[in-house]
Parts: sequence; structure tokens; C-alpha cells
Amino acid sequence: MFKLKRTLLNNSVADGNFFGFYRRCTAGGRSASKIGIEMEENAQPLFTFGVIADIQYADIEDGFNFLQTRKRYYRNSISLLNSATEKWNAEPVQPSFILQLGDIIDGFNKPRKASEKALETVVNGFSKCKAKAHHAWGNHEFYNFSRTYLMNSVLNSKHLESTSEFQSSKHVEENNPEPSYSYHFSPAPNFRFVLLDAYDISIIGRGEPSRKYYQSLKYLREHNKNKNRNVPPEPTGMKQRFVEFNGGFSREQLDWLNDVLTFADNNQEKVTVMCHLPIYPASTSPICLAWNYEEALSVLHSHQCVVCFMAGHDHDGGYCVDECGIHHLTFEGVIETPPDSNAFGTMYVYEDRMILKGNGRVKDRVLLYPSF
Ligand SMILES: [Zn+2]
Repeated sequence: MFKLKRTLLNNSVADGNFFGFYRRCTAGGRSASKIGIEMEENAQPLFTFGVIADIQYADIEDGFNFLQTRKRYYRNSISLLNSATEKWNAEPVQPSFILQLGDIIDGFNKPRKASEKALETVVNGFSKCKAKAHHAWGNHEFYNFSRTYLMNSVLNSKHLESTSEFQSSKHVEENNPEPSYSYHFSPAPNFRFVLLDAYDISIIGRGEPSRKYYQSLKYLREHNKNKNRNVPPEPTGMKQRFVEFNGGFSREQLDWLNDVLTFADNNQEKVTVMCHLPIYPASTSPICLAWNYEEALSVLHSHQCVVCFMAGHDHDGGYCVDECGIHHLTFEGVIETPPDSNAFGTMYVYEDRMILKGNGRVKDRVLLYPSF
């Protein structure tokens, strides 16, 4: 898999070919060292939105990650969320919405029977924000709740979906007995956002006796022979991603995504895709990648409309521009952010770029759209 990816990267940089799809490629990234000047020049944005990832709130003492290398501020994460909502509410241009990239509460809540109380605390935090939040689902959502529970909870933000256009593939997903939690919305003319379900294929996101659960178990067993499947099959390299705390996208979901992006292409829209798991190796540690990230990438690379992909999960964050000019932003996690700092951003959207104004560990960035 690793060798294949390297070959594809080398080829695709040269000629834009990726899994048989074609997209003209130009690098669109640029340093944000003069971010103040950039924003002044651009004046009024078309709209703005907020982004935050991996709050992982729990009413417990501080701890450490699995490797004991990063401190986790479980209780204080709610204070950082409150600081973020205060900042968003005070913005001169009110954010149109907030993207919450998943892992809103920590798995430690489950054995303490505190999952619902913790969720209530964090949702109360979000309710102070004037803008509505779109919630992605991460591994910690599934440590705490079943998929059925989540579908009926406040973390299902699918009611914010755009329903006035593009009905055909929505119909396909509705006929699926095990649908993914994915939808799209258009906050302004010519702009669309797609929320994906990175645990559509996973053994924590699907329960017995579903078809997708057994399909996921078989897939993971083929790639990871360890008894504890949260231990990677190899200590380094791309295969590290085959662990139980990750997941992937079903063929049905990727077909649906392809249909949405075709609609967006035909309408000259600019699309940002978001989910909990990163899908581009250079934007994250490989242990955090979605299982079938290459399949998701091949869909994105076959459409000209995609400008940005946003994810959480890797608390260290990451960023790169891929060979097709798509910006891959992995947001730093709130949970591993000290109380005197923060980790959230406000994105200012313009005709030719998005400008990320970061807070604390999240850096400022200028994201130029790919040109064709
Ligand atoms: Zn996660």
C-alpha cells in the first residue's frame, strides 16, 4: 500500500493522473506570514465559519495519551470551548456556522456512566454560540454511544442539510438499510460543504449483527493480526492506520459523494469536505488516516470543485496542499491544548481564497483555490 501510494504521488505530481481520473493540478498553498495584509486587501468576506476539533470533554483529572507523551486536559476542554464561542460571538462578521470535527466527549465517560451528562455539558457550551454547529462523528462518539443513539441525538445535525437541490442520491442513501451519516449544505451561492462518515465501515461505528460490522471485522482482520487491534500491525509506515480506532467509507457513501461533487462541478461550486479522519498522508501521522483514504482521495481528485478537506483525530494537527491543489487541514485537538492556549479557527471565505485565522495552536493560513 505504501509503495503504491508513493508511485501514485510521483505520477500524479507529474501529470495529474490519479486512479484513472484526471484533474489539472496547480499548487495553491501559500504562507500566511502576512495574514493581516491579506485580510485588509480582501475586505468583506462572503461569509465566515468556525472550526473546532477533538474537545473530548470529561469531568476527570488531567491525564496523558496512550503513549504517555501528551498531556490531556479533560476538564478544562469545556473552558476552551467557551472561549471559542465567546470569540465567535464577538466576531464583526458573525460565523454562518461552526464545524465540530468529532470526538466531542471522551471515551472515559462511558465506564463512569457519565456519557449523557458530559454530552449535555458540551452541547450547552455550543448552545451559547449564535451560529449552529455541524457535528462530525469520531471514535469517541462510538465509545460512548451506539449509532442508533447518535442518529436520534443532538449530534445528528443532518437537519441542517440543503434539501432544495440535488435530491437523486439522497434518495439512494435513504433506501440503504445501513446508511452513512453524511450530508451536504450550501451556506452561500457557489459554495458547498460535505460532511462525511469516516466510521461508516468500522467495528466501533457498526454493531453486530449488521452486514457492515462483519464486513469491517473481516477487513480489519485481514490487515491487522494483533489480538489487540488498537495496536498497529506495523510500528511505522502507512499500515499503521489499520487499527480499531479508525474506520473508512463504504462504496455507497463514496458513490454518493461522487454524485454530490458532480452536481457541484456542473454548478461551478467550490466544495469543502469534512470528516473526523484525515485522508492525506502528508497532513497527518499515518496512524490517524482513514482505512481506505486512497479511495476517498481518488473521488476528490476526479472533481474540479473540491478546494479543501478538513479533519480532526490527530491532536498534533497538520497541513499540506496535495498534487491537485486541495488544501488538507487537520485541526489541532482541544483536549491536548494547555489552559492558557486554545485550538480553534475562524475561516473567512472569499471568491478566490479562504483565510484561516487561528487561535492558540491553530496557525493562520491563506488557502488559495486551485486554478484551472
Ligand atoms: Zn478521534
